[in-house]
Amino acid sequence: MRVGVLAIQGGFAEHISHLKKAGVALAEKELEVVEVRTAEELDCCDALVIPGGESTCMAHICKTNDLLEPLRDFCSTRPVWGTCAGMIFLAKSIQGSKEGGQLLIGNMDITVNRNFFGNQVHSFETSMATPGSHFDEINSKVHGGDTFRAVFIRAPAIIMSDNEEQEKGKGEVEYISILRLDEPASLGEGQTVSRVAVAAKQNHILVTAFHPELTSDIRWHALFVQMARDHCGAGGKVQGAVKEF
Ligand code: GLN
Repeated sequence: MRVGVLAIQGGFAEHISHLKKAGVALAEKELEVVEVRTAEELDCCDALVIPGGESTCMAHICKTNDLLEPLRDFCSTRPVWGTCAGMIFLAKSIQGSKEGGQLLIGNMDITVNRNFFGNQVHSFETSMATPGSHFDEINSKVHGGDTFRAVFIRAPAIIMSDNEEQEKGKGEVEYISILRLDEPASLGEGQTVSRVAVAAKQNHILVTAFHPELTSDIRWHALFVQMARDHCGAGGKVQGAVKEF
């Protein structure tokens, strides 16, 4: 099975290292982790990680390199995990971008506020509960506890409704980690939120607003490797020659 990491901008090197460690921890002997910069390299992957960085910049380079449409195709069927800028890039709709919006892969039914927690100086770390059902199996294979360290860097957040019924109506999106805010945050035009989602899953798409690749915890990477494995079955589906990282 070959997992690619989009390597045109942002923190891809840390993801590569964590994916390899997760592969070892899960005894995934056939796991290959490769850098992806072209449509050809993308097409040789079974699954993809889109790292954090700067989402408008990442989108612009993808557009210039004719990668936007191949990414949309890829993300419509194969497992993908977007962290931070990667989460923004995968969202169907964005709040907080300049007029004219920004280019998106747009395959996930979420609304993301781009710099929800503020500027770079408002970056922070916090401890969050490990999402039970998703991590039961991972916790038995990879050392970890009831909590994980969530690192937020100029981080986005998924805007949820405060209305539970509306939330249930959101189709297939599952909010995996929810952050309750100390006080309600204003989104402008009279809209406030008292909690936001910072990790979510929709079928084969996983997104996190935080950066597990910047901690020593490899369980989120293990979760994604397992998601990719479940999707691929025993062997990777995709064959082709790419340079192994
Ligand atoms: N908020 C940033 C953006 O708009 C993402 C920050 C990050 O990836 N650490 O792209």
